[in-house]
Amino acid sequence: MSEIKVITNMLKVNEEINVQNRRMLTEKGVYTINLMSAPGAGKTSILEKLISRLKGDLRIAVVEGDLYTTKDAQRIEAHGVPVVQINTEGACHLDASLIKDAIDSLNLNEIDLLIIENIGNLVCPAEFEVGEDIKVMVSSTTEGNDKPLKYPLMYEKSSAIILNKIDLTEFTNFDKQEFYKDVKSINADAVVFETSCTKDSGIDEFCLWVKNKIDENKAKGC
Ligand code: MG
Ligand code: ZN
Repeated sequence: MSEIKVITNMLKVNEEINVQNRRMLTEKGVYTINLMSAPGAGKTSILEKLISRLKGDLRIAVVEGDLYTTKDAQRIEAHGVPVVQINTEGACHLDASLIKDAIDSLNLNEIDLLIIENIGNLVCPAEFEVGEDIKVMVSSTTEGNDKPLKYPLMYEKSSAIILNKIDLTEFTNFDKQEFYKDVKSINADAVVFETSCTKDSGIDEFCLWVKNKIDENKAKGC
C-alpha cells in the first residue's frame, strides 16, 4: 500500500471513532474541550485555574496526554478531579482511539465537562478530531506573534484562543497588533482571551465563556 493510502486510511478510521466518541459524550451530556498548544504555553496552568474556579458548579474530568510522564496528571489530580493519563510513548498527538479508551474508563454519568489536554505540539493535534465539542488553544507571548501564520490550522480550528503570559509581553518583541490581525485573517470567529496565570488575570473571563458555551449547548438540547 502506498504511503498516501495509509495516511488516508488512518484519518478515515480516526473520523469513524471520532463520531462514535462524540455520540457517546453527547448522549451522556458531557461537554468536551480539546485543549491544544505548543509545549510550555501554559495548558496545564490554565487548566488548574479553570478547575479551581469551576469545580464547585460543574463536575469536571480531565484526560492528560503526555509523551512519557505523569507530571501534569499529578498537578491536576491534586485539585480533586478524576484524571485519566495517556502516555503516547513519543507519538506527537492524541487520536480518537486513545480518547475512546480514556472515556471508557471514566464514569460519564458523573461528568459535565471533560477537558482533554493534548500533546504539546502546534501541528498534528489540530488534524485529529477526538470527539470534542470545541477546540481551544493556548498561544503565549513568549512564542512570538508569528505563530498564527506559521501554524494556521490550529488557529483556524479553535473556537477560543488564549493568549497567555500576557504579563511577559514587555520582555519580548511580541507584536499584539500583528497577532490579532493574523488571527482575524485565519479565523474571524475565534474569541481571544488575554491571560496571565502567574498574575491570575483574564481567567475569569475565559471561565465565564466556557460556562456560557455549556449552557448554550444544553439549551440546544445536545
Ligand atoms: Mg501540560
Ligand atoms: Zn502527531
